[in-house]
Amino acid sequence: MIVLKTNEEIEILRENNLLVSQTLAEVGRHIRPGVTTRKLDQVAETFIRDHDAIPGFKGYQGFPATLCASVNDQVVHGIPSGYELKEGDIISIDCGVVKNGFYGDSAFTFAVGEISPEKDQLLRVTRGSLEKGVAQAVAGNRVGDIGYAVQNYAESFGFSVVRELVGHGLGKHLHEAPEVPNYGKRGRGPKLKEGMVICIEPMINMGVKEVYQDRDGWTIHTADGQPSAHFEYAVAVRKNRADVLTTFEYVDKVLNQKK
Ligand code: MG
Ligand code: MG
Repeated sequence: MIVLKTNEEIEILRENNLLVSQTLAEVGRHIRPGVTTRKLDQVAETFIRDHDAIPGFKGYQGFPATLCASVNDQVVHGIPSGYELKEGDIISIDCGVVKNGFYGDSAFTFAVGEISPEKDQLLRVTRGSLEKGVAQAVAGNRVGDIGYAVQNYAESFGFSVVRELVGHGLGKHLHEAPEVPNYGKRGRGPKLKEGMVICIEPMINMGVKEVYQDRDGWTIHTADGQPSAHFEYAVAVRKNRADVLTTFEYVDKVLNQKK
């Protein structure tokens, strides 16, 4: 069942996703060669709790941390650890919060120092594919219109779309209906209605689309060991527009300061 949100509830979701946006920026400020992903996790947890919210992922189905920190060939659900980031790595930071009974959930993939032109293109195209998907998140369209837009854009650069993991509705639960695949056919799938809040989160691989799960029970890797990128927005569906509840402005500001 798809739960539609009132405007009041959407404003709570906006506040939560803006907190996630700010947390991503705070994490981004600490990303550099030599820092451990566990340290980034601590930064995020402290920041979230200082803002009177609760980490949304910690304890979710037993996940042990505040962030999913997924480096290079790790697609999503990487567990923060003693791994020290290296120059040239890319790292997807996925972050959730709970506040006032609702979730926030957004993700950004960061470069660690200087990265290869190929990885840089992967990041730009994945972020671009998210924007293409978001543009379709308008009342009257269908979920397949979002997936088609993401897939069409990413594949035009020779990249591939992960099939096993998808976006989702967001509200009082972290994962609500409908599923929002990053691939699909135009005009197919559930109809988008005003008041739906969905997370659109393309996971785009440089090589093959196939993935596998690590023996840790969480981390998803690309089957061929090539890099993968992941960006995620929470979006409220409106009549003539997609109302993006997440912003990457804070992250972009931090990244510009680091240049
Ligand atoms: Mg997420
Ligand atoms: Mg999500």
